[in-house]
Amino acid sequence: MSRIPGESVEYEWEEVLTWPRHVSSTLHHLFGAICRNVSQTVNYVSKEIFKKGPFHMTMLPKDFEILYNDPVYQFSQVKKITVVCSNEHQVRAMKFRFPYDVNKTTFVTLDELLRTLQEINQNTAKEIRRVYEEHCQSEKSAISRKLCCTELFGCPMNRSANITPESLCSSCELIIQQAFHLKCDHFVCKICLHTKTKCQVCDKDISFQAALHDEDKSFTIRTSSVVCFACEWDGLTKEYSSHLSSAHPLLLAPVIEDQPNIDCNTIQISRNGTCIWKISGVEFIKHNAVLKKQASIYSPAFYIHPKGYKICMRLYVNGDLTGEDAYISLFYVIKRGEYDDTLKWPFNLQVTFTLIDQSSIENENGHVVKSCCPDKNSACLCCPQFDMNDAYGFPQFCPVAVLGNESGFVQDDTMLIKVQLQTPAEETNAIPSRGIGQRARDQEHVTNDVGEDIDALISV
Ligand SMILES: [Zn+2]
Ligand SMILES: [Zn+2]
Ligand SMILES: [Zn+2]
Ligand SMILES: [Zn+2]
Repeated sequence: MSRIPGESVEYEWEEVLTWPRHVSSTLHHLFGAICRNVSQTVNYVSKEIFKKGPFHMTMLPKDFEILYNDPVYQFSQVKKITVVCSNEHQVRAMKFRFPYDVNKTTFVTLDELLRTLQEINQNTAKEIRRVYEEHCQSEKSAISRKLCCTELFGCPMNRSANITPESLCSSCELIIQQAFHLKCDHFVCKICLHTKTKCQVCDKDISFQAALHDEDKSFTIRTSSVVCFACEWDGLTKEYSSHLSSAHPLLLAPVIEDQPNIDCNTIQISRNGTCIWKISGVEFIKHNAVLKKQASIYSPAFYIHPKGYKICMRLYVNGDLTGEDAYISLFYVIKRGEYDDTLKWPFNLQVTFTLIDQSSIENENGHVVKSCCPDKNSACLCCPQFDMNDAYGFPQFCPVAVLGNESGFVQDDTMLIKVQLQTPAEETNAIPSRGIGQRARDQEHVTNDVGEDIDALISV
C-alpha cells in the first residue's frame, strides 16, 4: 500500500489491514487480507509466513497494543506496521509509549496515511476517510450510550414536523420537558428559566420567582406526537427522550476529544448539560505533568445547552495548588461564548465531575464523583472579558494514585471524564460529595521542548 518512493521493489508486499468493523468492498483491492481483530491477523500471518510477505500491517492504536505483545510482532517478515492515530496528540503519545521500534512501526494520522497512499484515486481516499470517521463515531456512541444521562433539558425538534410552537421553549427552541410560565405569558424550559435574563419573544426580564411550573402544559406536551429530528422515528414526546438516548446518544451528550482531526471547527452542543471528555495518551500527559513540562491540559470547548454557556475543562493529572504532586486537580473554565449577552451572570449552575472507572462502567459506585457549587463572588464565574476565565473546581479532585497501572480509570491509555451541569436547586442522592469550588493557579508551566524530548527518547 505505502511504498517508499525510490525503494527497490524486489518482492510484493502482503498488505494486511486489521479493522474492527466491516470495510466496504471498494477498499478490498488495496489489501491482501482484511482481519476483524488482532488474533485473526496473527493467525493469518503465522499461516502465510513462508508463502507470502514481507508483511505490511495497517491497524488502529488499540490493536497495535495487542500485537506489540505478540511474538508475531518480532517476526522479521513483519517488516512494516502503520498505526493510524486519531490526531497529532495521539501520534506523540504512541511514540512516547513505544519509542524503540521506529524502524518497523510508524504512527500516522489519517491525513498522513492518505498522503503516503499515492496510487489511490480520490474516491478510494474518500472511502477510507468515511470508514475511519464511521469507526470514530461508533466508538464515541458506545461511550456515550454507556454513560448517557437521559434527563434532557429539552428535545431537538424536527422542523418539518407538525409541532405546535407552544411546545417549544421560547428561548432555546427545544421541546419543553418541564414548562415554566413566565409573567409575560411566554413559556420557557427549566434550564432557560435558570440561565436566561430576558424573554426572547418580548424582551421582558425573566423573573425566576414569578415563574410558575405549569403541570397541565407539561402534560399536554408530553402526550403530543413528535417526529425525531435525526431519523424516521415518530411517537409521543414522553418517549422521544429515551429514543434519542438510545438511537442518537452523541446528540445529547457529545464525546469530545483533544485536537480531533474530524470536525475540529464545529463546537459541540450538549442537549442535557452533559459532556464526556475522552483523553488519550494519559501516560504521556502524566510524564509531562510530573516533570512540570506541561502541568495541565484543556478539553475542547462545548456549549452546555443550545444558546447556553460555553465551557471547557482543565485537568492537572499531577495536581495544582494544594493538590500538587499528590492529587489530580480538575476544573471547569468559562469561555467567551456567542450567547453571553443573554445569559445570567455570575454563572450559577452546579457542576458535577465524574472520573469513570472503565472496568465497571455501569457500576456507578466505582466512579469518582464530585460536585461543585458556584461561588457568586468568584471572578471565575463572571461574564468573560477575555477569551476565557480562570479555572474553577477542585485542586484535590482525587489522589494521583487512582491512575495507577491496575486501576480501571485508565484503559488503553485513555481516561474518560464526564461533566454534568445542573440547576443548583436539584438535590440528588447520587452525589456523595459536594463543595465550593476553588480557583486554579493561573500558571501554564509549559515548556516547548516536549517534542525534542520525544526525539531524544526515540533516538536512544
Ligand atoms: Zn429552553
Ligand atoms: Zn415574553
Ligand atoms: Zn431518531
Ligand atoms: Zn521526557
